[in-house]
Amino acid sequence: MFLTKAYRVLKFGGSSVAGATAMSGVLDIVEREAEKGTVILVSSAISGCTDALLDGDAAALESIVDRHNNIVRRLFTGSQRDDVLERIDGLFAQMYAAPEDEKVTFGELLSTTILCAKLETEGYAVKWLDSRDLVVKGDEKETFGRIVAAVRECPDTEIFVAPGFICREVSGKVSTLGRGGSDYSAALFAAAVKAESLQIWTDVPGVMTANPKQVPAARTIPRMSYKAALDMASHGAKVLYAPTVAPAMEAGIDIEIRNTFAPNGQFTVIGAEPDAPGWIGIASDGDNIRVVGTGVSIEDGIRTAQGALKRAQIAAVDMQEKDGGITLSVRHAVLENALLALHKAYFQVLPAKLVHLFVAGDGAVASALRQMIKRTAANVKERTGKVLWIAGRANSKKYGIRLDGEPSINVEGDYVEAVIKNAPKGSLFIDATNSHTLYKRYVELLEAGIGIISSNRRSLAVPMEDYRAMQAAARENGVPFRYETTVGAALPMLGSIAQGANSLDKVVSIEAVVSCTMNQILGDYKPGDSTFASLLLRAQKAGLTEKDPRKDLGGMDALRKLLILSREAGVELEEKDIEVLPLVPESLLRGSVEAFYKGLEGLEPKFANLYSEATTKGCRLRFVAKLEKAARGYKASIGIRKVAPEHPAFNLKGTENAIIVSSALHPYPLVIQGPGEGALEAASSILNDILR
Ligand code: ASP
Ligand code: MG
Repeated sequence: MFLTKAYRVLKFGGSSVAGATAMSGVLDIVEREAEKGTVILVSSAISGCTDALLDGDAAALESIVDRHNNIVRRLFTGSQRDDVLERIDGLFAQMYAAPEDEKVTFGELLSTTILCAKLETEGYAVKWLDSRDLVVKGDEKETFGRIVAAVRECPDTEIFVAPGFICREVSGKVSTLGRGGSDYSAALFAAAVKAESLQIWTDVPGVMTANPKQVPAARTIPRMSYKAALDMASHGAKVLYAPTVAPAMEAGIDIEIRNTFAPNGQFTVIGAEPDAPGWIGIASDGDNIRVVGTGVSIEDGIRTAQGALKRAQIAAVDMQEKDGGITLSVRHAVLENALLALHKAYFQVLPAKLVHLFVAGDGAVASALRQMIKRTAANVKERTGKVLWIAGRANSKKYGIRLDGEPSINVEGDYVEAVIKNAPKGSLFIDATNSHTLYKRYVELLEAGIGIISSNRRSLAVPMEDYRAMQAAARENGVPFRYETTVGAALPMLGSIAQGANSLDKVVSIEAVVSCTMNQILGDYKPGDSTFASLLLRAQKAGLTEKDPRKDLGGMDALRKLLILSREAGVELEEKDIEVLPLVPESLLRGSVEAFYKGLEGLEPKFANLYSEATTKGCRLRFVAKLEKAARGYKASIGIRKVAPEHPAFNLKGTENAIIVSSALHPYPLVIQGPGEGALEAASSILNDILR
């Protein structure tokens, strides 16, 4: 059984040979393929013919005679036409004379006789093969042997033409391979000759995610496994006759499903390669629907189906997992609507975009962010089409990176370098640290195409030169650089200011009441009940202050926030431009913390005085960072101020923050007020920056 030639098996379905025009298209395809190897052309009967033959009444048979005669009249001229008409006339006579159960075999005899004759007239070395003598139903081994022998007998033939569908039983009785069986015939020919190509030409562009006649949005599945194809075919997908798959698979031959009416268009290749995990397609047989998938979560899949059908107000019965897919039934009247709804839910969703996150910092904010990402995953995916994946984690000493699972922090080395090496396109670096040096790596990250989301205000309150370099790197590399969290946590302060600046509005003043520790102390302070020093000590013990509480008094935190706010408004301040209205004498800022607290107790009368000055005027004390337009440029300062009842900061409570922005375009200031602190707030703000 040794064949030296390369064979290409092309099978054409009924609609591909339905009339003279369609047949001409078939001949073009066959001739093109004949240049690449010896073609074995397997054809179905012209469309509708098998049904008519099964019907068998006089009118049906007459219409068959007419249609074939018409095709011949259009395809041939002169003596060739007479010759072919005579040949098919002979077949008609046999058809009328044939036993009832053999009439059905004449459709394929007729179509292949015409195709064969046409190829002959075009000068090809053609040979018609009688499939009835080659295909033995239920005995593939015998079938293969007979096909090889027949083909080997004609080494010079360029195109063999064989009827699909028809065969003989072992007993010798003429029979068929079942409705749709021509596909299987083609697979038998291909397997027998170890064809280099097996092409099933039909009237749709390959195996599709659903039957396009029922679901217009169906799309071609470019590649699929034998297994998935068999799953679709055996659950009613008409595009392929299920028994076709086995012989092709055993012989290791890919099956191409192509469209006769768009020969250069999309098509499907069915082969041994396993499918990528996901939903593959929907097939239906009667009222039974099958959703085919591989490596999918059946639970999710069932939820998707239930949701889709519920929205379409369709009741389904027997929805269940079967062989890795889902099966269900619906009332026949709603079948098409059900297919439409299911297809939409499974296949018309935008593909989720995977965003890899590389988080730096392993404190409260990072942990809140991790939990929030987990908790919101389904919602985020549905609302934004994004899947967030924490692929990197790090504390100040070690890191862990994994693109395919949960990273654990156990590697010593340069985290940023490792991120740059491993981050897929579109990744984001999340600075959730308090580091005052990490910003020096921002430009490197941005230049590597990695966006940065930061909650670390130290990274932004840097010399203007560094600030500009980071902004430029982000812009030039087209990657995000967002840090809304650095001021007022989840409050949209920077975004609002940037919006004003973008529309050429000029800031007249910004008042920011953003330093939480100081405002909490000032809010609680009531001379006689407590001293200022004791409240600060309490805050320090509660972990609300910096390690050295004097940093809070110096307003470092507020100062950084004012820098960031001003720069966002286009006012390029440096730290030294901000005047700090001193709360305590310079001398107390040096020396030990104990000495400082002692000195602070001594200052209590001064604080009490400040307090009564404010309260007698009906005002309250607030720690305010302020930027205001001056005669030339801007003036920036931070310190304790008295605010009147009509001031938005008058009623601030607890850890609330507020900013009040007055600008040239608007008569009234913009006020943003709300919770300005907390790990949860920070995490939600980072998440928002990630998704923006
Ligand atoms: N002509 C047969 C049928 O209609 C076989 C085929 O087309 O595949 O079932
Ligand atoms: Mg068919």
